[in-house]
Amino acid sequence: MFQSRCAGCERVGPVLCRTCRFALAAPPAMPRVTDVIAAVPFAGRSRDVLLGFKYANRRQLSHHLAGLLVNRILASGVRPSEIDAVTWAPTSRRRRNRRGFDQAELVARRVAAQLGVPCRRLLERQGGVAQTGLDRATRLHGPVFRASPAASGQRVLVIDDVVTTGSTLRSAEAALRSAGARSVQRAAVATTPALVGGVDHHPSRHYPSRHRPSQHQPLRRQRPAPPRTVVQGPWAA
Ligand SMILES: [Zn+2]
Repeated sequence: MFQSRCAGCERVGPVLCRTCRFALAAPPAMPRVTDVIAAVPFAGRSRDVLLGFKYANRRQLSHHLAGLLVNRILASGVRPSEIDAVTWAPTSRRRRNRRGFDQAELVARRVAAQLGVPCRRLLERQGGVAQTGLDRATRLHGPVFRASPAASGQRVLVIDDVVTTGSTLRSAEAALRSAGARSVQRAAVATTPALVGGVDHHPSRHYPSRHRPSQHQPLRRQRPAPPRTVVQGPWAA
């Protein structure tokens, strides 16, 4: 029989037990050295929770994770009145089909609702072949997105669930700006400790993960993809 377990500690009960809820709600300060607003470090208990969200189909966690991120967004000085649209960096179609949902979209929709700002699908993930005329960083890292013309003139908050290298959100920002977005803020539920200055602020980093190694594999595949391009596309102004 199916038994609900906590994504943070595997205790039988709710998807996130009281202990883990508190542990996640009181994360260490996350300096914004990368300009990505992040709620928690991708380490320790919060990493387990995020892996459960991503790979174990625990989509009920999105509400709680979005709440953490909203708190961090507001604490960082971003005002909802200064955001016209919340969007997300879409995962690949293959991954979305396998999981049945796009975890970044789930978080973005919840964040938008909690901020009282519209959530819009403004980005499309590009597959396809490499093209020339790219800067080196773009070629070496991350997926490539194409932004809708609806991004033009908008102040956009773009969301991802987990940031490892930062390349996905940088690429998303580049697409939004090339479509004419007036400003772009980047936010993620979690970032790797290396991204916050190379210092591990989280004492429970070595908290053992109970996820099977096979469940970690999709994460490694999220690492910088083969060279791709910024496609300006028919939408570009
Ligand atoms: Zn727990």
